Amino acid sequence: MTEHQLPLKNTALVWSDRFLGHDTGHHVERPARAAVIREIIASDRCLAERPEVYVQSVSTDLLQRVHDPRFLDALDRFSRSGGGWVDPDTWLGADSLDVAAVAAGAAVAAVEAVLDERASRAFALGRPPGHHATRDQAMGFCLYNNIALAAQAALDEGMERVAIIDWDVHHGNGTQDIFYDRRDVLFCSVHEAGLYPGTGHTHELGNDRGEGFTLNVPLRAGQGDAAMLRVIDEIFTPAIRSYEPELMLISAGFDAHLDDPLGDMRVTDGGFALLADRVCALAEEVAEGRVVAVLEGGYDLDALARSVSAVIDVLDGQAPERRSTAAHSSVQS
Ligand code: ZN
Repeated sequence: MTEHQLPLKNTALVWSDRFLGHDTGHHVERPARAAVIREIIASDRCLAERPEVYVQSVSTDLLQRVHDPRFLDALDRFSRSGGGWVDPDTWLGADSLDVAAVAAGAAVAAVEAVLDERASRAFALGRPPGHHATRDQAMGFCLYNNIALAAQAALDEGMERVAIIDWDVHHGNGTQDIFYDRRDVLFCSVHEAGLYPGTGHTHELGNDRGEGFTLNVPLRAGQGDAAMLRVIDEIFTPAIRSYEPELMLISAGFDAHLDDPLGDMRVTDGGFALLADRVCALAEEVAEGRVVAVLEGGYDLDALARSVSAVIDVLDGQAPERRSTAAHSSVQS
């Protein structure tokens, strides 16, 4: 097939070979995750003429608008002194901050491509993940908070309301921390109760002017697709409809998968496709279709590859396959 015969797809897949760096050794969050994603985006099923998105490192100015400059200085000093473990989960090696800056830059570039209407939707496929990084702390495999930086970039471009749906199996405590007292970002997280980092209870609703603009739904382990979809349909969708965001972001973690070693939520490949389909439909209704997904966790390589493929298919406009588990659902309070 020559290039001219490739189908046209308007979803940008935002990638850099730099994501193969940040060597964490035997850690679950490792370069092999990026390697399987590179295979997917080079595979026949994803091959298409797509919007090209140039990725560069996130700017220092934007980093300082989201993270505490003293934290950024301390992280830089730690890196220059040779790095090591930031905490028992989080490795920082010689190139880690550079790779993290490109992962954050990819999330920002994905948002810019959608705001500029160069792409209708976009998926930033970087690592390390970001949603545990708070305003002043790197933690939980995360150095910079990619999705918070993407949301801030959209606000800096003149958007007034951005909604984030975080379906990673872990609570997005860093994103919550950064926007907790603000109402220009509606943060909605569904996660498995009792897992790292131990936050994300239903009573965490935001603070001050941000009160009511954080929504947390912890689910009991093992409930699968049906429970996750029910949270989106019954809790997040009405909140997002009344919020009327101009852009919808997804913290797209895949560690809620049935095969993932870190969680026990038992979501299927098809379940992730259905979740993405719900977000896309909602974005059509309230946000002129603008959806940007940003990769978070997902540590079983095969499950990660299949689930990312399933979500790309949905972002490309394909109907999700109905393969959801029949688990009973109930929302844990
Ligand atoms: Zn996770």
